[in-house]
Amino acid sequence: MPIGGRWVPASGGGTITVANPATEAPLAQVPAATIEDGLAALDAACRAQEAWAATPARERADILDRTYHSIRNRRDEFAALITAEMGKPLTEAQAEVDYGAGFFRWFAESANRSHIDGQYGVEPGGQYRFAVSKRPVGPSLLITPWNFPLAMGARKIAPALAAGCTTILKPAEATPLTSLLLAKVMEEAGLPAGVLNVITTNNSRGVIAAVMADPRLRKISFTGSTQVGSALLAQAAPNVLNTSMELGGNAPLIVFDDADLDQAVDGAMVAKLRNGGQSCVGANRIYVQDGIAAEFTRRFTKRMATTRVGDGTDPATELGPLIDSKQVATVSALVQDALAKGATCLTGGTTPNRPGSFYPATVLTNIPDNADIRTEEIFGPVAAIYTFTTEDEVIAEANNTPYGLASYVFTQNLAKGLRVADAIDAGMTGINRGVVSNPAAPFGGTKQSGLSREGGTEGLHAYQETKYTGIQL
Ligand code: NAD
Repeated sequence: MPIGGRWVPASGGGTITVANPATEAPLAQVPAATIEDGLAALDAACRAQEAWAATPARERADILDRTYHSIRNRRDEFAALITAEMGKPLTEAQAEVDYGAGFFRWFAESANRSHIDGQYGVEPGGQYRFAVSKRPVGPSLLITPWNFPLAMGARKIAPALAAGCTTILKPAEATPLTSLLLAKVMEEAGLPAGVLNVITTNNSRGVIAAVMADPRLRKISFTGSTQVGSALLAQAAPNVLNTSMELGGNAPLIVFDDADLDQAVDGAMVAKLRNGGQSCVGANRIYVQDGIAAEFTRRFTKRMATTRVGDGTDPATELGPLIDSKQVATVSALVQDALAKGATCLTGGTTPNRPGSFYPATVLTNIPDNADIRTEEIFGPVAAIYTFTTEDEVIAEANNTPYGLASYVFTQNLAKGLRVADAIDAGMTGINRGVVSNPAAPFGGTKQSGLSREGGTEGLHAYQETKYTGIQL
């Protein structure tokens, strides 16, 4: 793992085996970083901070731009690695490479402008001058989940570096290989030693707690579950760390009677099955208005039932394995709970008897109020369909959750679409679209889905402090 510009083993000599979820075959060994390694990475980030912040913005932007081009040139290599360690179909892995690379391009473009942004003026009483500018927050700890091995890191590394912060990346234990390849690519793009350090560990709790307790760390940006994010917020309190939290979701997808049915079915398919349903913005609750419910459910179920499940490297595969057998057990338990309480299964619903962590595309209806699937994040290819009658009723249902990340509305009445988008307490709404993520847009959630935003202008501000100087001439 790269620490301070050198590729080092874990100080304790330990390793972690990374496995392919489609075959369960081991792929590689990576270092099992210890607390000492975590602190060595922080030392390296702190040593590099001053020089990196002083590096002209254009030079930093050039490195990000070279990284963008290099990832694009090595698209197949990155995509194959993502599929191997995470399982998603190759076409989805290629889409992730394009999306992830896009953050380097967007923040290369942003880096120059952000440093000439600012204000100089006279205070309202006319007595003295104001100068307001931006400066980097400082050494930043970036923690990512396994579901988008490239994009989740890119979304943090690119803005941090653009702002002039040095970084320590801790990828998920299941998917560290893509992050290591990215670090290699960035080194080749001319990134100075210590600006991006990567620690791969199977002791996340211990290593992260030690790094966060060190007052030299100034920021933590975390993407993962609400449970872990909430614990990290508590851990961030003693040193009053700057925090960005991208946490869990429970996205409603609402289809009104006046929706274009083809568009709604296409949108629901991608919002549900992208990444095998293992996405924080995945459609967790599909609400269909009663006039269109039977026809929508028929068409959508037909598409789900014919979804080809298999190894992500097979070009015919539309749905790869889940990340591991534990995830299959979690998803299966949610389905079994709903069925035991009276839900109807229209397709799927049984774990296939084959090696690898597979689960079929599944559709449930008639889900009773006490079923766990109504409130839990499914994180798998299971669609839960509910019906509704009025706009007010569905808005109340959509908001009846502690989460507020993504949401989707399908209607041909744009005024209604905008009205419902405004009424939904979520950070993001797609109108007649099942995918909204874009490097140029602010991604993030309200309520227990998180704090701060990634991407867009906001994504850069997350790594900047505002400096105000009052000047008496
Ligand atoms: P997770 O919370 O289990 O793990 C996320 C990361 O935190 C991993 O790197 C893990 O090793 C690390 N971690 C776990 N426990 C830790 C601890 N005690 N201290 C420090 N680090 C710790 O989540 P996951 O299972 O990897 O990912 C799935 C979750 O991520 C879902 O809830 C999903 O909604 C969420 N997610 C959110 C977004 C978003 O942008 N809002 C994006 C992707 C995933």
